[in-house]
Amino acid sequence: MSKSDAKHHVTLILGDGIGPEVVASARTLIDAACPRIVWEEAEAGAEVFKKGVASGVPQHTIDSLSKTRLALKGPLETPVGFGEKSANVTLRKLFETFANIRPVRELPGVPTRFSGSGIDLVIVRENVEDLYAGIEHMQTPDVAQCLKLISTKGCEKIVRIAFEFARSEGRKTVQCATKANIMKKTEGLLKSTFEHLAKEYSDIEAWHIIIDNCAHQLVKKPEQFDVIVTTNMNGDIISDLGSGLIGGLGFAPSANIGHDVAIFEAVHGSAPKYTGKDVINPTAMILSGVMMLRHLGEFEAASTIENAVMATLEADIHPRDVQTASAPVGTKAFTQAILEHFGKMPSNYAIRPHKPMVVPPRPKTTAIRKVEKRETVGLDIFTEFDGTAADLGPMLEEAAKGTGAKLKMVSNRGTVVYPLTGTDPDVVNQWRCRFTLDQVVTEVPTTLVSGLLQALEAKGLRWMHIEKLCRFDGEDTFTRAQGEN
Ligand code: NAP
Repeated sequence: MSKSDAKHHVTLILGDGIGPEVVASARTLIDAACPRIVWEEAEAGAEVFKKGVASGVPQHTIDSLSKTRLALKGPLETPVGFGEKSANVTLRKLFETFANIRPVRELPGVPTRFSGSGIDLVIVRENVEDLYAGIEHMQTPDVAQCLKLISTKGCEKIVRIAFEFARSEGRKTVQCATKANIMKKTEGLLKSTFEHLAKEYSDIEAWHIIIDNCAHQLVKKPEQFDVIVTTNMNGDIISDLGSGLIGGLGFAPSANIGHDVAIFEAVHGSAPKYTGKDVINPTAMILSGVMMLRHLGEFEAASTIENAVMATLEADIHPRDVQTASAPVGTKAFTQAILEHFGKMPSNYAIRPHKPMVVPPRPKTTAIRKVEKRETVGLDIFTEFDGTAADLGPMLEEAAKGTGAKLKMVSNRGTVVYPLTGTDPDVVNQWRCRFTLDQVVTEVPTTLVSGLLQALEAKGLRWMHIEKLCRFDGEDTFTRAQGEN
């Protein structure tokens, strides 16, 4: 069998709500343009939760995707009341699809507030780290915490894929959007990794933008953006903003890319109120299928479908979520119209030249950054106390005596409250107590930590969480509290 006759095996997940309708539409067009796809149907989502599989993803689906390494997936409902985690997130995490690529392009025949501005950008969102790792704790009955974990490895992977994606589409600029001005360690890690790796991609212009200004600029002057790389939660928010710029969620496709697995899906959810009504827009799922075909190297089939979608919209044949003078058509009629436009070229839309995207290899080690010298200079101990900073501070100073550490400051929700500042912040019952060690050491002795904790407990203070304050190669690994000198 020649390479051109080779079959592509793809796991097909119909999904919940409107999922089966949009997936059927995409499948019809893909089958017509590329008969080499062999579909393996697999389940995930609401029905699976109801069968008692808590993850929403049964073993046969994991087995299918482990074999095909490729899926086209309908939206999955996250049921409220049963099933703990989202089946979508489970799939992304199990198969480490670390990059979520979301194109946002102005479409012909889809009038919006931004029509004519030439929007053609792509948001590359980190997909597995950050606050969405969902590591949460109630530190006191009144104070909740969510850990924001960002790794050098995760940053390297997402930055490289952003540059590689830009190259595959002949794009000229990659913008990195972070909140590094406030979260200097976590968001700052993406910024510094981006600035470091940008030197390897000298053919592409690279610049940084603060995420809130990025949101502002996306509405004010969206045409200035090309490829935006960002952290998970920022990316989630600005990519929905992006779909709003070009006509809504019905037009927003996406690809979840891992080192050797890729899952293609619409950005939208299961829109349950429209289930089975033949009224929803299948374009987002169809364009996700187009991205999948390009990922497979089926560039001609991908262009056939993309051109036909645009020619159909230009002919003013459109679903319900497009507002023009002509009446909308149903999901099935819209799909049929696209099929009938195979071979037709839109007059106001040019397909970008595409090359296969290079997915950088999986890094072999967990440790990326090598550190010569480690020092520990102190401890942050988070305690529960129902009272004032003026009462707590002296108790902590007293408790620390003779332990090998002394109190430097206390902060409440990130702001210094002791030593007293003369202001009157509205405090809560969780306090970060920062102690400095009498001697800088490589590793703080466990006996010192336990002695300090026992001294706090003897004062009736309950502790919940400890962080070591370290220096790696002379650089502080922690930030100061607001107002700390
Ligand atoms: P949603 O399903 O995306 O629907 C929100 C609204 O977006 C709809 O009411 C509709 O707006 C519009 N919309 C969505 N898809 C459309 C389409 N194909 N054509 C036209 N309009 C479309 O969001 P949700 O209601 O918040 O979530 C419903 C369920 O989906 C939840 O269980 C959620 O967890 C899940 N979800 C899954 C995924 C995924 O599988 N990747 C993603 C997001 C949400 P109008 O009401 O204005 O017509």
